[in-house]
Order: sequence, then C-alpha cells, then structure tokens
Amino acid sequence: MSRDINNKFWNEELETLPREELQKRQLEDLKEIVKFAYDNAPYYKRSFDEAGVKPEDIKTLKDIEKFPFINKKTQRDTQGVGSFLGELAAVPEEDVVFISTSSGSTGVPTMSPFTKKDFDEFQDTESRWFWQIGMRPNDRYVHALNFSLYVGGPDVIGAQNLGALCIWGGTLPSERLLFILKTYQPTVIWTSPSYAWQLGEKALKAGYDPKKDFNIKKIIVAGELGGSIDATRKAIEDIWGAEVFDFYGLSDIFGACAAQCEYHDGLHIAENHILVETVDIHTGEVLEPGQTGELVFTTLRKHARPLIRFKTGDIGRIDTTKCKCGRTHGRISILGRKDDMFIVSAVNVFPSDIEAVIREQSYLTGEYLIRIFEKDFTSKYAVEVEKSTGVDKDDETVAAEVSAALKARIGVKPAKVIVHPDGGLNTRSEHKSKRVIDERNIDYNI
Ligand SMILES: [Zn+2]
Repeated sequence: MSRDINNKFWNEELETLPREELQKRQLEDLKEIVKFAYDNAPYYKRSFDEAGVKPEDIKTLKDIEKFPFINKKTQRDTQGVGSFLGELAAVPEEDVVFISTSSGSTGVPTMSPFTKKDFDEFQDTESRWFWQIGMRPNDRYVHALNFSLYVGGPDVIGAQNLGALCIWGGTLPSERLLFILKTYQPTVIWTSPSYAWQLGEKALKAGYDPKKDFNIKKIIVAGELGGSIDATRKAIEDIWGAEVFDFYGLSDIFGACAAQCEYHDGLHIAENHILVETVDIHTGEVLEPGQTGELVFTTLRKHARPLIRFKTGDIGRIDTTKCKCGRTHGRISILGRKDDMFIVSAVNVFPSDIEAVIREQSYLTGEYLIRIFEKDFTSKYAVEVEKSTGVDKDDETVAAEVSAALKARIGVKPAKVIVHPDGGLNTRSEHKSKRVIDERNIDYNI
C-alpha cells in the first residue's frame, strides 16, 4: 500500500488519538512493561521489592508515582553487572540487535540496547517525525550526524523507510559537505544548531549563496537547545532560506523522542512510547502538566532495557492540550540541563536564556561564551560576545546594551560583558560547541 503523500500524518489514527484513548493505551502498555521489567530485570525486582511496590499496584497512570526513580547513575552502577547488558536489561543478549552509547560527556558512557522490535519501532517513530516536518519520498536527505555509537546515527533508516533518497553524510569535513549540498542538491539536512549556523557562514565565506546555490528547504537540528530558541532558529533560517525544526533525543531512548511540527510551539513527544512526568528538581514531587521541573520518562514499549521513571536531567514542561496541527500527543519544551542551570541572586538562570538575548541583538555575531564563577560566596556570571564587523557603536556602549538586555530578560545583570571583534571568540566548532565555562570549583589560590 502506498502512502498518500498529501496526508499530513504518518499514522493519523495514532497521532490524533483522543487523549483518553491515548491514556488507555499508555496504561495497558505501562502495566505490561512494569511487570516485564520486574520479572526479567534483576535491578527492578530488587528496587520494587525494597520500595514495597508490585506491578499489580498499577491501576491508573498515576500509580507510577509509587515507584522509585532511576537516573544515569543507576545505569552506570548496573551496566556490566551480572551480564554484559547489566541489571536493567530485561532480555538475554541473543535478543539484542543494536546498542548505542552515550557520549560520556557527563561521565562514563552508558549503553542502550534494542531488540529487533524495539529498533523497528524506534525507526517507525523517526519516520513519523520526518513525515511531520513535511519530508516525503521525493526529498533528498543528508544525515549529517555522527554514526559512531551515537543513537542519532541510525535515524537515517527512518528517513529511508519513508522513501526519501538518503545520503549518509555523517561528520564529513565542511568543504566536502558543501560540495554535496551543491552537487546533489538535497532538500533536507539534519545537524546540530551551532553547526547549521557555522556551515552557513562557511558557505558564505567559500563564495556560495546558501539560498541560491543550494536547495535546502528544511533543516533539522538537535543535540543542543538552539532549535527551540526562536532567535537562534531565525538566525539559521535567515542564512539558509530554509525552515528549521527542533528535534529532541535521548541516548537512552531514541535518536529523536520528540519533534516540532509546522507550528514550532513545543516538541510533540511520542506519548505512545514515553510516559512523561514532570517533578520538582529538588524534592522529586510530581508536578502538574504545564509546570516546569525535571522531566521523568518511563519507556512504555522498549523491552531490551525498560526505563521506569528515568530522571532525564532535563528541565522543561509538557503541554498536553491539542496542537493546532491536530496532533494530540503532548508538546515538551526544554529549558536546559539541570547541570547547566545556575543560581544568581536566587534566580534560576539557564544558558539558553542568555543565548536567546544575545542572538536577538542585531549588532552581535551571535557567538558567545558564558563564565560562571563564585565571588563573595555567591555565583555570578560574565558574558563574552562578538561585535559584528561594521557596527558603528563603541565596545562600551555594546557592553552596556547587552547587560541591560540580559537584566531585562533574566532579572540579574552579568558581572561583566567583554566585547570581542568578529571572529575573536574561539567557540566555533564542527560539533557541539562549548559555550559555558563553570569556574565555580576552581581554586585560584593554588
Ligand atoms: Zn503540532
């Protein structure tokens, strides 16, 4: 059966399920997966017993709140224990066909196993996101993400299953990637937001006009927050003349668990796969939909390694109202990593808030560096920015304006704003850019 390319949904019935129906399905899957985890994964057997809870306690979705949390540390502590796949795994190794591993940017890399069915459902979900942003079989798609171990690598299969012509770009050097964009005229590309922007700048410097010489209509970005910051998305769109869509993935679940639709108002999350809770970042108390806290995910259908109440470390919220696009699956908004958040004068500050302000100032290049440090026993932050070439303002005025804009948006002024000329900051990188330097633990007296 060939799919109707004019239908805006990949799986209309699933994507537009009335909320009660969706929750009914979630409850069925939740009961099944909690029992499966308890019966097959040594860790869950032990932790549920210790907490005095049983799979049969799940009568409603809310009953999940009785169960203990897990986090990255649980994964690290249990992997390799008892078996190669560790104590969170619920299937024998012969049922596993694929493992991805996290980058290990915040510690020991953790691996995520998939059964054949897990993997097929993962790719069907990726096809759904590609279709949601308007990718169709007549598109040419460049997958410019790392293929080495990274869970986002195989997402290209989701695009292929949809019928698009796929170019497995990986992490090619920029010159080679620009050659592909020029020669093969692809229409869709997926990369990180900072790289999408830098690639555009490199194209301009190499004498290309990205709007005329290339045929890119849509850019998918993930891996950093930029795609959800309107000013950053717009900056990338202006260079490329293409629409930018933000995707959100977790190495522990799928390459993309959530994706923006044409309204760009939060990211639809695959609620048929993931039960979302939001909890208070300090107490773990469960919050109402719409409130901001740490996102906690329970995977409803992944059998190789079920995640029951996994604290993601991401701060955000979920909007469960129906979207203008017709989809009923909730939309998450991510504000930042819990680890990146810092507190200045009792105000929670996310680097993404600072980025949004900097990208809105037309006289700056948009590159920036944030330093967080401690002085007089309180956290403070300083910001370094680049003034665009040809701007008719002195550095002092630029610093004062940036400082005022930050104070207006965030509520607390930076301790200092340092202004560099265009290209003066060493933050441009091919992949994830390091833009936040936390100096709070550095003892300068040594
Ligand atoms: Zn929508």
